[in-house]
Amino acid sequence: MQSRWVDRDATAAVDRYATSGVAPDVALRVYTTRLLGSDPALVLHGGGNTSLKTRMRDLAGDEVEVLCVKGTGADMATIEPAGMVAVKLDPLKTLRARADLADDDMARVQRAFLIEPSAPNPSVEFLLHAFVPHAFVDHTHANAIISLIDQPDSAKLCEEVFGGRIGLVPYVRPGFGLAKAAAATFDENPKVEGLILDKHGIFTFGASAKEAYERMIELVSRAEERLSKNRKTVFAAAALPPQVAPHEAVAPIVRGACSLKNAGGEGAHRRMIAEFRTGGAILNFVGGAELPRYGGSVVITPDYAIRTKRKPLILPAPETGKLDPFKTAAAQAVAAYVDTYKKYFESHNARVGGGKRMLDPLPRVVFVPGLGLYGLGRSAKDARIAADLAEAAVATITDAEAIGRFHTITEADDFDVEYWPMEQAKLGKTKEPPLAGQVVAITGAGGAIGAATARAFANAGAEVALLDVNLAAAEKEAKALGGAAVGIACDVTDAASVRNAFTRIAATFGGLDILVSNAGAAWQGRIGEVDEEILRKSFELNFFGHQRVAQAAVQIMLKQGTGGCLLFNVSKQAVNPGPNFGPYGLPKAATLLLVRQYAVDYGADGIRSNGVNADRIRSGLLTDDFIKERAKARGVSEKDYMSGNLLQREVTADDVAQAFLHQALELKTTGDITTVDGGNIAAALR
Ligand SMILES: [Zn+2]
Repeated sequence: MQSRWVDRDATAAVDRYATSGVAPDVALRVYTTRLLGSDPALVLHGGGNTSLKTRMRDLAGDEVEVLCVKGTGADMATIEPAGMVAVKLDPLKTLRARADLADDDMARVQRAFLIEPSAPNPSVEFLLHAFVPHAFVDHTHANAIISLIDQPDSAKLCEEVFGGRIGLVPYVRPGFGLAKAAAATFDENPKVEGLILDKHGIFTFGASAKEAYERMIELVSRAEERLSKNRKTVFAAAALPPQVAPHEAVAPIVRGACSLKNAGGEGAHRRMIAEFRTGGAILNFVGGAELPRYGGSVVITPDYAIRTKRKPLILPAPETGKLDPFKTAAAQAVAAYVDTYKKYFESHNARVGGGKRMLDPLPRVVFVPGLGLYGLGRSAKDARIAADLAEAAVATITDAEAIGRFHTITEADDFDVEYWPMEQAKLGKTKEPPLAGQVVAITGAGGAIGAATARAFANAGAEVALLDVNLAAAEKEAKALGGAAVGIACDVTDAASVRNAFTRIAATFGGLDILVSNAGAAWQGRIGEVDEEILRKSFELNFFGHQRVAQAAVQIMLKQGTGGCLLFNVSKQAVNPGPNFGPYGLPKAATLLLVRQYAVDYGADGIRSNGVNADRIRSGLLTDDFIKERAKARGVSEKDYMSGNLLQREVTADDVAQAFLHQALELKTTGDITTVDGGNIAAALR
């Protein structure tokens, strides 16, 4: 590992922050924090923390000694000075004399001595930073260090690699106890350049930002060097089927198995988003004959427990053409996993005197021999974090096994960190949105109604795949949504294009729960004279297009076995034909029946099918020019034309989006057509 300190960059950081009144030592603290944070071999996802001891004025104007420490959960790679929380140092130091500090008191201490009252909470490791004297303190969960200390004989290995340069702190759960234990180890030899926290990570110290940072790099490099020596070959491979099924075929089965059926009421399944990872190192790891032994816990450092859970789910290798037995095996494996998790919770909750609330018992990491691994989460972001941490575990455990034997914290220690309120706070307290864990695909998502629908579903917590024949339009809307939203090219009149698009959705999110089949276009012509070609073209898009995407969606939903929802943009034309609109209305009438056919054929599978009949929405179908023309032809104002309905209100794309969202949330409604047209009695359904 190379130091990435560059004098010129450091000076530039000092100069840049000076313009907003940031002191040079804080600027350098931010500079090296970012250097550490941007290397995934050192720091992942809000892990790690750094601090600086300096002087600052408090709100009363008095100059006081402060600890500037990373705010909890902040990302070191992108941190700004405001992300370094300033806490008065003296009161923190006096706490060291205490025998104990309860969690509640710790939470109060986190806020009691802030210089800026609105600052985020300082890192849960802030007391450790306060209890050692150095100006600059850096902490990472470097993979190489962890490979060395997640061993039964970690003390011997640390002595061999680092000699007296570091102090070794026995494993203690992060918090007050660890801060005291670390300070005690430091006091035994105040000359040490850093501390290694057994089964956890490394701290380095320095009088300057550069010294603390470069000590980190140097000590981690020593660990890397040791890992490259005397390696044994890992892992002896287990037998695999001759042909392993591809990820996109397997993912919906895994995702469906890793759900809690009817957890939120009948038909309300608790689902996960699945992020897939594979590659040589992962395949070597998940393909090992001894996977259940070395891969039985993925908590390589206590910080990860809240994101990955202790145990991964280990599935059999999925064989092409034999996915039915794989599905059965996956369901059994998840049932056993959930059962084991519940027992783990109950026994350890009893051990600590009860009072804890069980987190959901579903796995967060899934190993599939021959294929790779999945990270699971209630959002694509959480799934990605789980996958990243799982990948770090694969790398770290592989190295640990190559030089010895992977050995992590005990199950009880794991529980104590997973159920520590300070860790659980990292998950956030906000109520989950109604479509958390669900995936929606929207066709025609580059248009007005599609884009509005994408926004509505994203706001309701769903992960969104925006499909459009115009890829640039879909990508533009996906970018506007942000998060994990993805734009995908899809021509619904082309079977291969639909197949590719739905394969991509399954590959990206692990499956699909809701389809909004919205793509459409209008053709006109007097029905007795219209060219048959026009009629066929319209049927291809306005009927077969819906059928093609619905069929592709249902195939994924059946694999998942967690029901689903098909939503169709029909049209008032389906029940109230306008003159010369036959080429548009006829296929839409067939699509209205398609809504009902899916409701009938798949109700028993929990797949609902509903449609929206909208009218007169400003969109690609009803352009501003067209509205002008129609209003003029009728001798009314544009506004009157657009609100020419019983309620005299213009109907918008957002109104249609809300109708789709409502249908997605109504778990007891199928075969329904909701009319969104401001009131048109001739288009009312019987
Ligand atoms: Zn840590």
